[in-house]
Amino acid sequence: MSDGLAALADHIQADLAKIAHPGMPWLTPVTAPDGRPALDVLIVGAGQSGLAIAFALRRSQVTNILVVDKAEEGREGPWLTYARMPTLRSPKDYTGPDLDVPSLTYQSWHEAKFGEASWRDLNLISRECWADYLLWYRGVLDLPVRNGCEVNDVTPAANGLIKATVKCAQGEETLYARKVVLATGQEGMGDWIIPEPLRHLPASRCVNSAAPVDLEKLRGQRVAVIGAGASAFDNAAMALEAGAATVDLLCRRAEIQLVQPYRWLTFRGFLRHFSELDDSWRWRFMRAVLELREGFPQATYDRCARHAAFHLHQGAPVEAARETADGVLLQTPRRDIAADFVICATGIAMDFAGRPELSRCAHNIARWADRYTPPPEERSARLGAFPYLADDYSLVERGAGETPWITDIHVFAIASTMSFGPSGSSINAMTTAVPKLVHGITRGLFRADIAKHWAAFKAYDVPQAVIRTPELADGGA
Ligand SMILES: Cc1cc2nc3c(=O)[nH]c(=O)nc-3n(C[C@H](O)[C@H](O)[C@H](O)COP(=O)(O)OP(=O)(O)OC[C@H]3O[C@@H](n4cnc5c(N)ncnc54)[C@H](O)[C@@H]3O)c2cc1C
Repeated sequence: MSDGLAALADHIQADLAKIAHPGMPWLTPVTAPDGRPALDVLIVGAGQSGLAIAFALRRSQVTNILVVDKAEEGREGPWLTYARMPTLRSPKDYTGPDLDVPSLTYQSWHEAKFGEASWRDLNLISRECWADYLLWYRGVLDLPVRNGCEVNDVTPAANGLIKATVKCAQGEETLYARKVVLATGQEGMGDWIIPEPLRHLPASRCVNSAAPVDLEKLRGQRVAVIGAGASAFDNAAMALEAGAATVDLLCRRAEIQLVQPYRWLTFRGFLRHFSELDDSWRWRFMRAVLELREGFPQATYDRCARHAAFHLHQGAPVEAARETADGVLLQTPRRDIAADFVICATGIAMDFAGRPELSRCAHNIARWADRYTPPPEERSARLGAFPYLADDYSLVERGAGETPWITDIHVFAIASTMSFGPSGSSINAMTTAVPKLVHGITRGLFRADIAKHWAAFKAYDVPQAVIRTPELADGGA
């Protein structure tokens, strides 16, 4: 570790010591069916959300926790896996996993590692640096993370616990916890969309934007990208830089969207209080935001537009697609487009049943469509499929009493967006959203233990002062 980072680590410990109050432990372990103490919270996913949640829980003296991730260490989330942009889209001064502790910010890490001038001159944070920062964050806070562990089944267990079956390198393991947080990222409650007209194409011809792509194979090829958000442009740029002969980007709308709605809503009032609005306002706002999709930054567009082989088609929804002798023909209202390879950057669709960890309760997870009927002009089947979450980010039952245990499963991912606005899915909301989630979790743990707290209070007999006898007070008679 460099001297700068070593000094920063000391600084962080000193800062955290100054704000450790109230540091008194308040949870006693619940015994699991295997006779061992159950975890208070199991966090699934060690991306930036899972790590920040673990940090925030520990600051609330919820210390009997574990974070598991199926990815290997350092490969969590999109940054070093399927993200195809050189830099983050978030501005460099957005704080996030630091949760408002200045010495834990990306800026502090960057300055300690590369110097203050480097930070001053920095335009956007590289995704490799961001991934490095997250790894350092987890280390410097000594967060309890286990990699290579995939949660593939979640069921109720005795003592009000949740049982999670975890597939690890050593085989299968059972973990018991009072609460489970699913910080499972973009596809945490669903999967990447391939639009219906393209679904019959083989994977050798058509993939989603998170699938691995052999860049060597793109050289000299005709590539079509479906979608016009930031990820679509990233994928187009990747293909162009890999030497594709042509890249056609097909935008469904008549005009490409230049506005980034997430910039508008990044203010404390919205981030903090959106989830407290009634359903009609929440639906109206998030439908508008999510139907607009993520706008792309200038640099993302420029990365494509500098190539003569790049062609942007507006008003070009794919109506049909068929395999030809040498590729695929995509039919759009204006013209047909021939391609060798198609990348669909068309977002995520909710599909609870498709996730193994939700298979026992998927049928009984309340969706927005179960709880709210929007006016006809605001309908959206895609958004109606999002989970309708309680105010502590927990799952709500569709039919009360059938799976009551799901109220101890909290979702902090893009699936939370309809209920909470931006949440685990973006850096801009973390400093507001993570404390709100942790507030909900500690509320649940505290309420569940209220009889124990009452008994402990009644038994509390630690004197705060000693009353001396008059003789002693007078110095003796
Ligand atoms: C291409 C791209 C670019 C982006 N750029 C930005 C940006 O610039 N700024 C921004 O704010 N956001 C950006 N985002 C959104 C981004 O996904 C989030 O900000 C960030 O990754 C969210 O972190 P997370 O921890 O919630 O999820 P993730 O980082 O996705 O982490 C989820 C983790 O859960 C693990 N997991 C899933 N299921 C299981 C299971 N069953 N068992 C065990 N582990 C499991 C996964 O392995 C993964 O590591 C971008 C997203 C994409 C796709």
